[in-house]
Amino acid sequence: MRATTTAGLVPADASALDRADRVIAGLGLPATGIDVADPATGAQIGRIADIDVDGALRAVETADAAGRAWARTTPRQRADVLHAWHALLVEHTEDLAHLITREMGKPLAEARGEVAYGTDFVRWYAEEAVRPAGNFREAPAGGSSILTRRAPVGLAVLITPWNFPLAMATRKIAPAIAAGCAAVVKPATLTPLTTIFAVELARRAGVPADLVQVVTTSSASRFSSAVLADARVRKVSFTGSTEVGRTLLELAGRNVLRSSMELGGNAPLIVFDDADLERAVEGAVAAKLRNAGQSCIAANRFFVQEGIADAFVEGVAERLADVRVGSGFGDGTVVGPLIDDRAVASMKAFTEDALERGAELRAGGSAIEGDGSFFAPTVLDRVPEGADVAQREIFGPIAAIQRFRTQEEAIERANATEFGLAAYVFTESLDRALNVADRIESGLVGINQGVPSNAAAPFGGVKQSGLGREGSAEGLEEYQSVRFYNIARR
Ligand code: NAD
Repeated sequence: MRATTTAGLVPADASALDRADRVIAGLGLPATGIDVADPATGAQIGRIADIDVDGALRAVETADAAGRAWARTTPRQRADVLHAWHALLVEHTEDLAHLITREMGKPLAEARGEVAYGTDFVRWYAEEAVRPAGNFREAPAGGSSILTRRAPVGLAVLITPWNFPLAMATRKIAPAIAAGCAAVVKPATLTPLTTIFAVELARRAGVPADLVQVVTTSSASRFSSAVLADARVRKVSFTGSTEVGRTLLELAGRNVLRSSMELGGNAPLIVFDDADLERAVEGAVAAKLRNAGQSCIAANRFFVQEGIADAFVEGVAERLADVRVGSGFGDGTVVGPLIDDRAVASMKAFTEDALERGAELRAGGSAIEGDGSFFAPTVLDRVPEGADVAQREIFGPIAAIQRFRTQEEAIERANATEFGLAAYVFTESLDRALNVADRIESGLVGINQGVPSNAAAPFGGVKQSGLGREGSAEGLEEYQSVRFYNIARR
């Protein structure tokens, strides 16, 4: 085994911290409320309002009133406002990136990547807002013509997780605005500041002040029970764990709300003997380490064919053992802190369980002492199928590697999960890539690459990974209802 080498915690760059803190100071946050902390240091960096149920229902009322006027705007008006919002977000790329790193921890370079990805949804839906939608058909027996139209679905409640504080918000808010809907947004209490700032920029760009309401609260369950029961709400879009998604679907069922659910994943990453080794290692490292593994599409279970397994494990272990772990503001940091100490405890438990069951440790394997919530990137080889790390969503920087012999075996094991969000296939055979991708039960497949998300692609899961799609034209349809007019003809 190679020695665990993290390059040590890199001291935070003071000027970068200043920049983030200046943005936070500009948000005009309340003096009392919920504390927001920097996961790299544990230091408190701001406070957000703790809005109760009455406040949340007032937000519903305000957004609903604004939404009625917004629903009557033209597609071009909506597109213009979204283009202006996109331009402002791009102009504030550095402010947004520093804020993301400060409250969420990811390395600044990755935070810039999230800004590019997150703002792309705003541009995409600015462009999509004016695309003709609807249809015209003749009734087969004659006598009438059928015109189908798409109308805004109505007031949408948008609930987002902490791992991509900008992108998870923009890929819901932008299509809602493009479709003609108002929104009440509830960001994660761990990372609310980026969403507050992005919505402030939306207002400066010309989005009506009341149209998008941000509700921060320490009681997510009271919020959803009250808000989803309100008759003015017509839609819920949630990104987060499958467990919470199920609860929200039950609540949504009572008022028959349109529901989009982007839930948990357990992505298989399959490497065949005929893969390009370098490409496979690089793709696997990207699919594992992006956001320190705290991504719903992070590669979770590595299945590697026997003939390439030793070389692949060696390559991944070398790369993971060498990456720099530390403050997201530190030079060359590749892996930042995990979101909190509970996440670190969970990585420890996964590792211990796998080792007790006979897995081999090839890199990392332990928490990093000191301030903040750090865990060394870890490679576990020959992980037994029953280990927790081979069964559950890891949400951290552990690569859990299993070996396989045949293609059939790989497909069967990849599908042996209730989740179906992302999968990855590495092979130089196009036939094999497509055949395997067709048979894997998942909403998206990265072929010879580890970062498949794109604003132009319909992101979403099958099985218990969710319902609905975000991004692409399909993402707009989630905020529209289809109606038809049947026009009698003589
Ligand atoms: P989480 O489910 O704990 O929380 C997500 C959001 O839901 C937060 O804003 C939280 O405050 C809120 N919430 C929790 N209970 C609620 C309730 N009863 N009513 C209303 N809101 C409630 O998830 P998390 O820990 O923030 O994020 C990690 C999970 O999210 C992982 O399972 C990950 O796979 C999933 N995720 C999925 C996607 C996707 O697109 N499929 C993307 C990112 C994260």
